[in-house]
Amino acid sequence: MGFEYAPALESRSVVDLKSSYGLFIDGEFVDASGPSFKSVSPATEEVLAEIGQADVADVDRAVQAARRAYSRTWSVMSGGERAKYLYRIARIIQERSRELAVLESLDNGKPIREARDIDVPLVAAYFFYYAGWADKLEYAGFGADPRPLGVAGQIIPWNFPLLMLAWKIAPALAAGNTVVLKPAETTSLTALLFAEICQQADLPPGVVNIVTGAGSTGQALVAHPDIDKLAFTGSTEVGKAIARSVAATNTPVTLELGGKAANIVFDDAPIDQAVEGIVNGIFFNQGHVCCAGSRLLVQESVYDDVLARLKRRMATLRMGDPLDKNTDVGAINSSEQLARIHELTAVGESEGAERWSPPCDLPERGFWFAPTIFTGVSQAHRIAREEIFGPVLSVLTFRTPAEAVEKANNTPFGLSAGVWTDKGSRILWMANQLRAGVVWANTFNRFDPTSPFGGYKESGYGREGGRHGLEAYLAH
Ligand code: NAP
Ligand code: MG
Repeated sequence: MGFEYAPALESRSVVDLKSSYGLFIDGEFVDASGPSFKSVSPATEEVLAEIGQADVADVDRAVQAARRAYSRTWSVMSGGERAKYLYRIARIIQERSRELAVLESLDNGKPIREARDIDVPLVAAYFFYYAGWADKLEYAGFGADPRPLGVAGQIIPWNFPLLMLAWKIAPALAAGNTVVLKPAETTSLTALLFAEICQQADLPPGVVNIVTGAGSTGQALVAHPDIDKLAFTGSTEVGKAIARSVAATNTPVTLELGGKAANIVFDDAPIDQAVEGIVNGIFFNQGHVCCAGSRLLVQESVYDDVLARLKRRMATLRMGDPLDKNTDVGAINSSEQLARIHELTAVGESEGAERWSPPCDLPERGFWFAPTIFTGVSQAHRIAREEIFGPVLSVLTFRTPAEAVEKANNTPFGLSAGVWTDKGSRILWMANQLRAGVVWANTFNRFDPTSPFGGYKESGYGREGGRHGLEAYLAH
């Protein structure tokens, strides 16, 4: 038995929630034309605020504002001047980091420890990093005089609301584009706080526009004729629909879609470290991670040992109030996502896999799912093939490195993979064989603004982050 921790609640008082929010267009908050919808805290189902829904006309106003800002200010400004704004935004994000972290945790359900120590510091880091590129674009390797594309339409999901915003907005602005961004319906609040930060930074009106709403708002943005670039992160299904709808145009698109990453543990791996990596790989952010290590491949000779230690470690995970600084696993983001996780885990059981969770009490209100592993999983099982996007791990075994590679690559996705071994040569060999955009060695779910991120196959195309991330926003 471990010892109990006393609750250590982060205060909500740092967040100044309004009862309702409009759209952010041309530097101002304006009322939306569509009916409003509610944003709830997934941990309690408490209504946090009413959010405006942008319709086709609102999206058009936002695109027009972005177009004016593009031609009159942002694209004619020197890179050095643009950099000053981006550095200013990055510094304000740092100054208001506690407020951003608490609001992200409230609206998304993720543990405050993660929002505070991972999401928000990375958000600032991406703005600092791309601020550094704004006056050096001619050295980025995309020609002597790379030009911005124009107005970018950007659509992001709910799993890392602020971080996905940063991945989209920072490189676009650094390269001289202006943006219209649609956050996910369940997590609009930190994007709207970011809009306030743009005002505070005196960013010229229209450079950043935020249109909140549902899938129909996203569709209006995708269909708008005056968009020069589309960037989407979310489900493979919607990604394919977007690719189809722009197929007859010459609008460049980047798609960052789903994943079903293999996390591969060899018998010479440092097992305790690997177990931490397995836990971080699938239970970080409740498993709402496109690059989550959702398929564990364990070499047969260490299977019993790895499983025993993994179960012991899972029994120490603390699940509960996301604003408690001791919480490891927070709430599932929405009742819809919870229903999806229930559906796929029921399929896992009916297909014959064995289900295990540590004993834990789920709170009565809110959306919760206990950390879960499935053993006895075969490659044909749906839980080995489909993205569950929750705290659910499928465990498979292998005997040889070649078999590990074959199983790891046996997926329609190709976003990430992990390799745990003592041998450097094996790491390099595996990295060459794995069809995945990112391969982590003896670590997992590690992000850095200098490193490109993106997929193969149904995980999408294009790269975000690093020098490569600029390419998507430059004509060359
Ligand atoms: P999603 O439906 O693809 O949503 C992503 C974004 O696209 C949201 O802003 C969404 O708005 C918007 N959208 C929905 N339909 C659209 C359309 N027809 N045209 C344009 N935009 C549209 O993903 P989700 O429902 O949030 O999650 C479902 C699955 O997607 C997950 O289970 C997971 O497999 C995958 N996913 C992947 C990632 C990733 O990082 N790669 C992130 C999240 C989810 P609304 O919020 O209003 O729906
Ligand atoms: Mg919410």
